[in-house]
Amino acid sequence: MSLLVQKYGGTSVGTIERIEAVAEKVAGFRAQGHDMVVVVSAMSGETNRLIALAKDIQETPDPREMDVLVSTGEQVTIALLCMALKKRGCDARSYTGSQVRILTDSAHTKARIQEIDEANMRADLNAGRVVVVAGFQGVDDSGNITTLGRGGSDTTGVALAAALKADECQIYTDVDGVYTTDPRVVEKARRLEKITFEEMLEMASLGSKVLQIRSVEFAGKYNVPLRVLSSFKDGPGTLITLDEEDSTMEQPVVSGIAFNRDEAKITLAGIPDTPGIASKILAPVGKANIEVDVIVQNVGADNTTDLTFTVNRGDMKKAVDLLAGVAQEIGAREVISDDGIAKVSIVGVGMRSHAGVASTMFTALAEEGINIQMITTSEIKISVIISEKYLELAVRTLHSAFGLDAESAQA
Ligand code: ADP
Ligand code: ASP
Ligand code: MG
Repeated sequence: MSLLVQKYGGTSVGTIERIEAVAEKVAGFRAQGHDMVVVVSAMSGETNRLIALAKDIQETPDPREMDVLVSTGEQVTIALLCMALKKRGCDARSYTGSQVRILTDSAHTKARIQEIDEANMRADLNAGRVVVVAGFQGVDDSGNITTLGRGGSDTTGVALAAALKADECQIYTDVDGVYTTDPRVVEKARRLEKITFEEMLEMASLGSKVLQIRSVEFAGKYNVPLRVLSSFKDGPGTLITLDEEDSTMEQPVVSGIAFNRDEAKITLAGIPDTPGIASKILAPVGKANIEVDVIVQNVGADNTTDLTFTVNRGDMKKAVDLLAGVAQEIGAREVISDDGIAKVSIVGVGMRSHAGVASTMFTALAEEGINIQMITTSEIKISVIISEKYLELAVRTLHSAFGLDAESAQA
């Protein structure tokens, strides 16, 4: 008998029929004698619907009220799932984040979990009840409802598993595991038996939204056994493992390909090539809470140079407006922005011990006529910024070039 924390995402609870199917599955695990804590997302599309309602009123709604609004999606699902469980004779009790007491900081819409009170959940588990918890939400120490950022129910699941020292945290979703790349984009993507935390962390941070990045950080930090599985079809899913040796990914040099369309590129052209200029440009951007990702500065000529960097697409306008003043102050020739770009990254712990990975990547892209605009590397990843219109071609090309295509689909 184990203590399992299972998280079911939006599509898995997207209709009443699907909620009934989840109840059937959970009741089955309970009947086998497992202690069950179930975290659910809002029904698919609901969080987007709520955000759109808010934006109909105001372009940038108040973050505290936004959290009061979007947290309602999950509250609907916990109640419906408990009803469906009780209908099956399986005792269950629903909890909002605040009722559990998932204490977070007060950073509305992107709060971080600080502490979890396990007393209520333990009492229910001891009484043989299934505990059903609303994902994505918590409460700050003044009692304000907070949310954990998009995709945050994954993090709720992993955090509860860490607090309760669960035997496994199982993320049930609409694909049957973590793939070499998004299987909705590349037909030949392959499910991985295992992937290391380190690689999963890179994949998540580089755009693979199958797991929210914070959930992977949490699982690594608290050593939570984590598995991604399908709600719709039985199978072993993908285990996220701490052990590099253990990973099936030791064989290929590149384990997976991630991509992100949510970036925009800003160039300050013709800036003076003198000390302190990068800081003059990037410090105000940071102060405005705009995250900067890839940065490239040209080699100077004629005492001037260009500085190019990427930001989240939603922040581009704000950054450009802000930089108009800075550009004038430092005597830059112009500010150029482009939101038609995308980032493609290859990830793999095997890259540490192999040379020539970058040239394979660049050659494969060149052969398809795809121009690389920016490059950034770390020990286990290489990312390039390209034009968004070539994104899918680039991902498919690299997937083949690094031998990741599924054999059955290769014929
Ligand atoms: P949920 O609603 O269950 O949280 P998400 O939509 O957040 O589900 O995450 C699952 C989706 O992640 C899949 O439908 C798939 O399109 C996408 N995805 C992106 N990259 C990958 C990958 N490498 N492996 C599997 N799925 C991926
Ligand atoms: N419902 C939230 C979202 O759509 C949280 C989640 O599903 O993980 O982002
Ligand atoms: Mg998700």
